[in-house]
Amino acid sequence: MYSDSIAGRLETVRASLKEGVQLVAISKYHPKERIEEAYAAGQRRFGENYILEMAEKAAVLPKDIEWHFTGHVQTNKIKFMAPFVHTIQSVDSFHALSEINKHALRNERTIHCLLQLHVAQEDTKYGLSPDECLHLLRTEPWRELKGVRIAGLMAMATNTNNEVQIRREFHSVWTFFEQVKKEFFADNTEFSILSEGMTDDYPIAISEGANMVRIGSAIFGPRH
Ligand SMILES: *Cc1c(COP(=O)(O)O)cnc(C)c1O
Repeated sequence: MYSDSIAGRLETVRASLKEGVQLVAISKYHPKERIEEAYAAGQRRFGENYILEMAEKAAVLPKDIEWHFTGHVQTNKIKFMAPFVHTIQSVDSFHALSEINKHALRNERTIHCLLQLHVAQEDTKYGLSPDECLHLLRTEPWRELKGVRIAGLMAMATNTNNEVQIRREFHSVWTFFEQVKKEFFADNTEFSILSEGMTDDYPIAISEGANMVRIGSAIFGPRH
């Protein structure tokens, strides 16, 4: 049923998710009042794309919010989110990972990180190719970084109406996710998150194995 309120839209989105799929409400550009509305409706996991915007919101919003960062990681700004961020979903270099580690340790925290994969056909999106991702995992000393935990992968499909293409991209990420799990995380369950799917394509992502979706417009309405 169509609803005009954030609570109503949140309920509609939740009802459409398969059991076990975690919802990150992407609140970028929306004022804190709208996040409070979603919070009042029970949402605790929020995602933002700009470090300073997220830090400003986190400072004034309830402390039990689980903040996810989904934008480009500018290493000189990591310090502003290191005290509170739960998961950084957009890690696309070992350099970024080791900088996050440094700030996590300074704050005596562990920050969950997802490696961002680039599979979409657009050049404008950040992320590692599957080969670069394997290269990082095979050659870099990431296991020594005690302040970060590589908890999974994040990816975006091409922004297109071609459902066949979107499905193919999500499927390839799932296959790669399973490969990485087997090759590098066989001995633990830390690596378990596959974050894929936004407002326009999340049902496809879920049917292709995503267990975390990042939804903005379907909850908060259009961004201005
Ligand atoms: C903005 C954004 C989303 C949410 O997009 P909607 O289409 O509004 O659901 C999800 N993931 C990332 C990385 C984003 O930048």
